[in-house]
Amino acid sequence: MNPVLALARPDILELQPYQHAKWDPSLERMHANEMPWRAQGDNTQAGLNRYPEPQPHALVERMARLYSVPAANVLVGRGSDEAIDLLVRAFCRAGEDSVVITPPTFGFYKVAARIQGAGIIEVPLLDDGFALDLPAVLEAGRRARIVFLCSPNNPTGNLLDEAALLEVCRSLAERALVCVDEAYIEFAGRASLASRLAEFPNLVVLRTLSKAYALAGARLGTLIASTDIVALLKRIIPPYAIPASTIEEVLALTEAPQRAMAAARIRTLLDERARAVPRLAAMGNVVRVFPSDANFLLVQFRDARHALEAGKSVGLLVRDFSSAPGLEGCLRISIGTPEQNERLLAALEQP
Ligand code: PMP
Repeated sequence: MNPVLALARPDILELQPYQHAKWDPSLERMHANEMPWRAQGDNTQAGLNRYPEPQPHALVERMARLYSVPAANVLVGRGSDEAIDLLVRAFCRAGEDSVVITPPTFGFYKVAARIQGAGIIEVPLLDDGFALDLPAVLEAGRRARIVFLCSPNNPTGNLLDEAALLEVCRSLAERALVCVDEAYIEFAGRASLASRLAEFPNLVVLRTLSKAYALAGARLGTLIASTDIVALLKRIIPPYAIPASTIEEVLALTEAPQRAMAAARIRTLLDERARAVPRLAAMGNVVRVFPSDANFLLVQFRDARHALEAGKSVGLLVRDFSSAPGLEGCLRISIGTPEQNERLLAALEQP
């Protein structure tokens, strides 16, 4: 058994999970209180009158192949957001256990912890390039159940040093889960840490179809972890979590042609990002364009409000982080189509 399981909430380890209606496609269903007829106009393959398969086999297999990991290490959920929520619920006792986050970072780690009543230990990324403060993360990790590390990090855009991530896993083995959120890894040209799972039983990797695969609306995230952790989280994921329509759409939209298209679009996006950087850096209102390994740029402006309004004046919304600690004057710009990027750059270039 994975020793990290000892970190889980004892009541969750003992929980008698909800018993789904049995999944047996060889038999006709008169066991789940569903209607026997489809809604008018329901053109799905499975029929939306039927509950979907929990942890759908074909989908789990597809994600396992996509991310080059064994299917037994995969849990699928409604976006990586659901995976974050499940981890916190399973491992943090309200009022007792804590998570480590490294601000500025993705906001949902903190919110998920708050919802669960878990404590939050903040170890800010270092001023110089938003690198991990490794000694401080290691120290804080000893007092926590989960360390959330986002690489490439949102909203700063930078990858975290791989050796540092592995050192966190190594040092906190049996002490804490290390959740490496790789939502943007496809834009970074770096291999996923999921290949190191066998070495680090406390490693959890999050992947999503919401970014590089253009399927944010489908809500499909993948958690990759040791089989024991996957089995534990299966006990608490809500019944029938993945909608039938999502299952069918994701299976249809992650075939070889879509994967080739995603790769081509990533290249276009990176070209566009590279084109935007010097244009932004040359603007009088820009203090700094932070290096990015993701599909967005964090830009510090002298007058962020003016830049935000300039975008809005040409119908474009960018994300305002200007009042977030450590991000004074910063806006986060998601790279768009060439036309959108040009429209935004031209608007920002206006004095
Ligand atoms: N992790 C990071 C770093 C993100 O930026 C996001 C979305 N903005 C998510 C996770 C959640 O993604 P999803 O739930 O769509 O998979």
